[in-house]
Amino acid sequence: MILPIYTFGTKVLREKSKKVVKVDDKIMLLIKNMFETMKASQGIGIAANQVGVAKKIFLVDISEMEEYKHITPMVFLNPEIIFETGSWEMEEGCLSIPNIRANVLRSEKIKIKFQDINLEYNEIEANEFLARVILHEFDHINGVLYIDKVSNEIKRNIKSELKKIEKGDFKCSYKTFTKKEEVKKK
Ligand SMILES: [Zn+2]
Repeated sequence: MILPIYTFGTKVLREKSKKVVKVDDKIMLLIKNMFETMKASQGIGIAANQVGVAKKIFLVDISEMEEYKHITPMVFLNPEIIFETGSWEMEEGCLSIPNIRANVLRSEKIKIKFQDINLEYNEIEANEFLARVILHEFDHINGVLYIDKVSNEIKRNIKSELKKIEKGDFKCSYKTFTKKEEVKKK
């Protein structure tokens, strides 16, 4: 099932996600739905709180890109960055912040520890683009968005666009859930 993407201004995007202690049918269904939602919105990564669930789960799939087609889609549960080094800048976007892109400085190389869907521990090293996508999603589950990390000048420039997203005054090709809808729900 394709789920709506929670957009900038919703509370769940700012929550610190909870650890996954058991992978039951509910979690398996959530992961399946996250994959479908990511594909449908042409994302390369998605965190559980982007579909309204504050749990430490994110997915990364950059295999649609020709140069990364050998990299299989990955599920990360309860991740921890255990090493990072270097720094480089690249433009990023986010499914939760439609129609905005900006340069973000991130580590060049990382080592991440996480659990797979069997709750077995894994460790991988990632560089450059893959490291960037992982770090972007890792930030999500800690309530951090890439726009928190851009220069002050960019922050000023995107302020009015962000206000529009909060108000639900934007268009995008996928289903969303906005702050306005979140307030109405209460
Ligand atoms: Zn994002």
